[in-house]
Amino acid sequence: MDVTCPQCLQGDQVEKISDWVEEDSSNNVARQFIPPSQPEAPSPLPGINSGLGCLGIIFFGAVFFFSVQVGSTIAIIIFGVFFAIFILAFGAAYIRGRRARQEYMQAVLTWQEEIEKWNQLYYCKRDDLVFDPENKQSSPAKDWQTLIKD
Ligand SMILES: [Zn+2]
Repeated sequence: MDVTCPQCLQGDQVEKISDWVEEDSSNNVARQFIPPSQPEAPSPLPGINSGLGCLGIIFFGAVFFFSVQVGSTIAIIIFGVFFAIFILAFGAAYIRGRRARQEYMQAVLTWQEEIEKWNQLYYCKRDDLVFDPENKQSSPAKDWQTLIKD
């Protein structure tokens, strides 16, 4: 494919950025076009916490109902309070974990779109210009990231 630069209208100094970065990763000019890295998955701790949380709820619940059976008012109050705090804390942790996973999935989608756009980019060495021949957008090399962000 013959891609020409929108500024000098020539193709002799044009590199496809994704190929160039891969082939010539020690080149300082190419290196500035390294694509954004994949977002990191949230820690798997919320899953473990959910398991522990369920055990905790069962434990406190069992003790609570046991103290109701025994009829000790103080024990009922203490374990009732513990039980309530535990359920609230567990619910909050669960919601936080779910939100973190949703944010992560959104970040991955955004990243995939950015990589897709990055795969379309070309660079003209003559003009120090990054451009997308598909949508005709271009940018000075130092601001090339604006071409992959919305
Ligand atoms: Zn050019």
